[in-house]
Amino acid sequence: MGRMMTNEPLIVLSGVNKWFGELHVLKDVNLSIARGEVVVVIGPSGSGKSTLCRAINRLEPINNGEIVFDGTRLPEEGRPLARLRSEVGMVFQSFNLFAHKTILENVMLGPVKVRKEKSDVVRQRAMSLLDRVGIAAQAQKYPAQLSGGQQQRAAIARALAMQPKAMLFDEPTSALDPEMVGEVLDVMTGLASEGMTMVVVTHEMGFARHAANRVVFMADGQLVEEADPKTFFANPRTDRAKDFLSKIL
Ligand code: ADP
Ligand code: MG
Repeated sequence: MGRMMTNEPLIVLSGVNKWFGELHVLKDVNLSIARGEVVVVIGPSGSGKSTLCRAINRLEPINNGEIVFDGTRLPEEGRPLARLRSEVGMVFQSFNLFAHKTILENVMLGPVKVRKEKSDVVRQRAMSLLDRVGIAAQAQKYPAQLSGGQQQRAAIARALAMQPKAMLFDEPTSALDPEMVGEVLDVMTGLASEGMTMVVVTHEMGFARHAANRVVFMADGQLVEEADPKTFFANPRTDRAKDFLSKIL
């Protein structure tokens, strides 16, 4: 089996196409993500970045092409799909915490309800994750009692509680007040340095420069350009990438 080989990519998209009705939002996307790699996806609004992320854990079905995760083609439904979802953590712009549950309960929910793990074991793991993201003191509070940055760190802890093989971040700091962006990026940088495989859609070019192994520039549903961050930012090859960078930097 391919999954025995440690250098096998964790995520492989081949010839992926996605339409919303008449709108062609992913155009023949080919992308291979190595284990432990941090890929930052940038590009204009509407270029298909969120759809790409959502396709990777099959929140969006694709129309053709293939996505392979950890040696297995993405399952269509049922238990295998649930397992895939639990192996790919996702953090969105909006934190999506359950308002009527405490932070600790939010973090414990997936492992206990979906994975049927023992709650003692999960509680310990959840507390250590909350500690790691710097909000152990907020464990018994409800989401509304936390700042946006704390809520987003709780959302990251919740995703990590499932012990995912990869983490997808879709503009995780875009909804935050500026003073809270750093604390969330710090947690993400820590994860990256510990070897987590990450796909990060972000406009935070500082994060891309420092934490990414590769920057992928998307425009109009296509992967237009990719390079290591140093090369990409110093020397974007395409006019579209140059134009995009001139607007955001
Ligand atoms: P990005 O994240 O880069 O801003 P998206 O992946 O969200 O881009 O969207 C790509 C395109 O697909 C946009 O034109 C958007 O309006 C469209 N789109 C996204 N989701 C849907 C949907 N559920 N139904 C119809 N069109 C959609
Ligand atoms: Mg988006």
